[in-house]
Amino acid sequence: MLLKREDSLLNDIFSKIDHEQELSKEDLVCLIALENAADLTRLYNLADRVRQKYVGDEVHLRGLIEFSNYCRKNCDYCGIRRGNRKIERYRMTIEEILDTVYEAAELGYRTVVLQSGEDMRYTADNLAELVRRIKRETDVAVTLSIGERSREEYERLYEAGADRFLLRFETSNRELYHRLHPDSNYDERMKILVWLREIGYQVGSGVMIGLPGQTIEDLALDILKFKELDLDMVGVGPYICHEETPLAGHANGTVEMTYKVIALTRIVTRYAHIPATTALATLRPDDGREEALQLGANVVMPNVTPVKYRALYELYPSKVCIREKATQCRGCIGGRILSLGRPISQGYGHSLYKKLNALGTAKFLKEDKK
Ligand code: SAM
Ligand code: SF4
Repeated sequence: MLLKREDSLLNDIFSKIDHEQELSKEDLVCLIALENAADLTRLYNLADRVRQKYVGDEVHLRGLIEFSNYCRKNCDYCGIRRGNRKIERYRMTIEEILDTVYEAAELGYRTVVLQSGEDMRYTADNLAELVRRIKRETDVAVTLSIGERSREEYERLYEAGADRFLLRFETSNRELYHRLHPDSNYDERMKILVWLREIGYQVGSGVMIGLPGQTIEDLALDILKFKELDLDMVGVGPYICHEETPLAGHANGTVEMTYKVIALTRIVTRYAHIPATTALATLRPDDGREEALQLGANVVMPNVTPVKYRALYELYPSKVCIREKATQCRGCIGGRILSLGRPISQGYGHSLYKKLNALGTAKFLKEDKK
């Protein structure tokens, strides 16, 4: 009797998805708790359908350049946190970063993501000049992922030509956030996401799945927060334990939970760009990215960092693709995507939200390829 009631509750929720109705926190909790293989397949198929309808079949590639592993912060989960004295630190020079951007552009990338720890040795002026040169000398969109700065610095970088900014809020549970971030503040982080939007950036954020102490209610609220923030990009990847952090010994997030959150993020946000993350590929190297692309994701971020630095950007252990050259990564990922029958986008892969509203679908697709 009880089972029957649960079945009908689940059918009602699936029917809501079918009819494109909003999901409540309770609906999301029920879906995140699913374990039965047939139910999960149904959820993933629905998410794949939503992906196809709202963002199409194209997969966008972003070339990821990890340009410094120095960080002033001490986030409890992160292998490059300030307190980890066991890693060798590196900083790429502006010329090295530019050379890497040229290489990425030559390999056909239309977006580069410049990511680092919070390294204040690169001033806003240094970075603005770098962005200006990238925009002048190559034909790529620029995404920054450099952590917390002042509003004025974000403004300067936007004026220099940066298109997008990635700043994960990591968890929407304020108490958990404060437990894991000894030197960050939840409200400040959220305020920055609002600034970035006001300034004009395409805004990306996201969370880790399986953080110690995180509940499925937290994950349901994370997904609703993505929607509330009207994000252009949402990155969700598993937490992977690094032994040189205060969280040593904790379990990793799971692949299945990551899949569920990706699928529900697609269903709830519809248009957001969602990457199949490197952390996911690390836990499931054979087909993690491919599976994610078939249940909601539409972006992959191959690493283009010079090989000599890759292993040093060790957010977590056993990261995939640390020995392959940029050309090899491009070829490998390209092959994996094409094997799914999905085309690789030739456009910049700008945000679908804003453009679609302003232009309508057909004109948007044309503009994005210019
Ligand atoms: N420092 C910037 C910041 O924190 O926004 C950008 C770089 S930071 C390394 C990029 C992301 O890596 C973080 O937002 C976090 O979600 C992720 N990350 C850090 N440590 C991780 C771990 N142990 N497992 C999985 N992801 C991790
Ligand atoms: Fe630094 Fe970002 Fe790692 Fe936190 S997550 S320690 S800010 S690199």
